[in-house]
Amino acid sequence: MATVETVTGPIDTSELGFTLMHEHVFVLTEGLNANFPRLWNRGARVAAAIAAMREANAHGVQTMVDLTVMGLGRDVATVRDVAAASGIQIIVATGLLTHDDVPSYFQSRDAEAMAKQFVADIEQGIQGTESRAGILKCATDHQGVTPGVEKVLRAVALAHRRTGVPISTHTHALSEQGLRQQDIFALEGVDLRRTVIGHSGDTEDIVYLEKLMARGSYIGMDRFGIDNILPMEKRVATIAKLCERGHADQMVLSHDTCCHIDWFEPGLVSEALPRWHFLHIPNDVLPALRAAGVSEEQVTQMTVDNPRRIFEAQGGY
Ligand SMILES: [Zn+2]
Repeated sequence: MATVETVTGPIDTSELGFTLMHEHVFVLTEGLNANFPRLWNRGARVAAAIAAMREANAHGVQTMVDLTVMGLGRDVATVRDVAAASGIQIIVATGLLTHDDVPSYFQSRDAEAMAKQFVADIEQGIQGTESRAGILKCATDHQGVTPGVEKVLRAVALAHRRTGVPISTHTHALSEQGLRQQDIFALEGVDLRRTVIGHSGDTEDIVYLEKLMARGSYIGMDRFGIDNILPMEKRVATIAKLCERGHADQMVLSHDTCCHIDWFEPGLVSEALPRWHFLHIPNDVLPALRAAGVSEEQVTQMTVDNPRRIFEAQGGY
């Protein structure tokens, strides 16, 4: 028996069930609502999020991993309200999202100072609540491993080794940033089997994807619905090919979508990316995978068994 922290408290890993491994409840401009609270209608946003979560739950989604950290407007008390009212299990994250520099506070401080904050989020609670982080998040985009990004990767590795909580990343797959992340993690002594290299599904490059998995990491085929980067049909074909080659035990599925993002005028996103929502995998992707020859057992591996194994690998080292 192993337990995992959700935003509403610990659960047994056997209760995770069908899990979307990289989503967001809200994606908000860091600091915006604290400065201009008139822009944030909390009641309406929470109500809409509860409705979206209930709908996902009715379509079989039991757990979501919300990888919203500093840099994406993390607001854990609001996420907890959404989870409590909707019945969906939400695992929340600590870490930091930047593609280049770190926020001013951390510029004059080292990775250790950053890791301390991540560990406190995991062991004590996030933003003054009792909700603890169940996963660590960091990012490397097309800018590569800048000094700021490297500091975050090292801090995440330190916090992981201290707590045993798994690591999940954002990458720019086309420039093969996942390999750079693995290099830093390996230097910090991280067992790469405890990491998920995210956004790997943005590429069809089997050679790159097999390199990532050969080093032990799971890969996140986690941007279903972002059809402007890669349409569903190509994402599905890549997964089907990798399943055929025996990799169903190292892939996890998700959308990297959210209930609300404030980066664009409302309506713009759903107009540009009509399939970018929590029902796309249950309604469209899973049937397409089955039609492409992926077995029911492999579907269960990617949606249930692998998430469970990721959270069952516990303990610092
Ligand atoms: Zn994301």
